[in-house]
Amino acid sequence: MAINIAIIGGGVAGVTTALTLGNLGLDVTLFEKKNALISGPPFCHLHAGGNLYREISTQACVTLLKQSIDFAKLYPFSIDKRPTIFATPTYDPQEPLDLLPRLEVLRDEYKKLVEIDGSNKLLGEVEEYFEIFSKEQLLELSKREIVKNPKSNDEWLITFAKNLDFSTIKFPVIVVQEYGINLFRVAANSGLALESMENVELLRECEVVDIKESKEGFKLKFSGAKSAEKEFDYLINATGFQTGIIDDMLGVKEQRMVEFKAAYTTKWEERSGAWAEVVFHGIRGTNKGMGQWTPYCNGYVQLHAMTPDITLFKDGLVKSTKDSSYPKLNKHFLDIIQNGWSQEELNRRSQRAINYLSHFFPSYKSAKIGTKPLFGAQQIPGDDPTLRVAEVAFPKEKYARCEIVKVSSVNDMSKAIVEDIAKYFKIDIKEDIFTIKELEKLEDKDIDKRACEVAKKLGYPKDLGLRCNKF
Ligand SMILES: Cc1cc2nc3c(=O)[nH]c(=O)nc-3n(C[C@H](O)[C@H](O)[C@H](O)COP(=O)(O)OP(=O)(O)OC[C@H]3O[C@@H](n4cnc5c(N)ncnc54)[C@H](O)[C@@H]3O)c2cc1C
Repeated sequence: MAINIAIIGGGVAGVTTALTLGNLGLDVTLFEKKNALISGPPFCHLHAGGNLYREISTQACVTLLKQSIDFAKLYPFSIDKRPTIFATPTYDPQEPLDLLPRLEVLRDEYKKLVEIDGSNKLLGEVEEYFEIFSKEQLLELSKREIVKNPKSNDEWLITFAKNLDFSTIKFPVIVVQEYGINLFRVAANSGLALESMENVELLRECEVVDIKESKEGFKLKFSGAKSAEKEFDYLINATGFQTGIIDDMLGVKEQRMVEFKAAYTTKWEERSGAWAEVVFHGIRGTNKGMGQWTPYCNGYVQLHAMTPDITLFKDGLVKSTKDSSYPKLNKHFLDIIQNGWSQEELNRRSQRAINYLSHFFPSYKSAKIGTKPLFGAQQIPGDDPTLRVAEVAFPKEKYARCEIVKVSSVNDMSKAIVEDIAKYFKIDIKEDIFTIKELEKLEDKDIDKRACEVAKKLGYPKDLGLRCNKF
């Protein structure tokens, strides 16, 4: 029996689901209302341990670790292999070693994952999952020659130590094997693979505007590059922050939140040597929120600062109501999403971000504002804004609703959807659903080329499509 599946939304959730189902030989139609896949909210960090988030549970961190390893196996070409340095500012009420008990649990969990399956050993040697560096060690490293292609944590820390104002942080600092993800490379990798799957129909610039439930399944009305009505046996809602719009069409009531956030692109011509990612911890939502310094190739640096006037926004977090499962952002945010940034707001927030991070790296003050920010709105299911792990819900028969908060949850999400489809349609599922030959046959140079084109098409420098350190 031919099973006809509709996926609404071509972000990382929809695209990964389409790849997984397409790989099983199912007939899939993917609707994306924009002209590009994975062009919603950005992502740059593989949360292999969740150490950015001091406020979440150890269990959530363990899940993020496992899910991140799965994600890196699926999209290895998108991973930028450089560690993350966690530093605690002097003004912060917590101490650097408060993270230690959790890091020890994470290292033990990583060990177990590697023992179960050697191919999980993607974050280096188990004993080196994290490493602690004292002030004295960092002072010594600040005198060393910069290394072009670092191989050890010592070598990664040289550029950090040379540029750090030592009076701004507490010691020690902790280096963790949490790597970068390049979103343009995920878009390139998945886009090329989907285009080569004969049983997947990719409908870009096609918006699903209405859904009627029918005896067989769901009748979707869509318009844009192609306009029609079509019946499907199974429906997957992967519309990100607009998930509630589809829920409302189906009469499904759900509580969720939507948050608008932005990260800023900068160019630092004077940057030399290879850089790790650097996180300066802080209390989210205060004017001393976490700062995140994310290096891209050729001098580009992306910045987050979890303060109300940099990455976060007053009224940027909204909730669903009893009448609608779709939390409505105010017009200002929807205008930015639809039409882009005003130059004034872009400059103001980007400059604040540069000032915020150059408190720690004084020489970074010379960085210039880059192009438009990496920004967007994302959903958070339920009513806890600190939730970082969520996958998928099945609120109706033959209806799956993707609810990821972090991109690394896409493997568990897709697996659950495959199991749900198998339950209804009695299909056999091969054991390893994530061995996808269309993804694996791609080469680094194909992905470089497409990723640079994607970056340019979305209005960013093409260099953002490159990765500095192979995985
Ligand atoms: C500033 C910021 C930084 C972030 N950093 C990270 C990070 O470092 N690591 C991490 O793991 N996560 C990060 N996230 C979270 C991450 O971006 C999201 O979890 C993820 O991108 C959500 O993907 P998605 O596919 O669910 O939704 P989306 O990417 O929003 O995709 C939904 C798609 O559905 C389409 N669509 C909607 N309605 C329709 C319709 N009716 N018809 C057709 N198409 C439709 C939309 O156009 C969109 O392309 C960050 C988020 C933000 C805002």
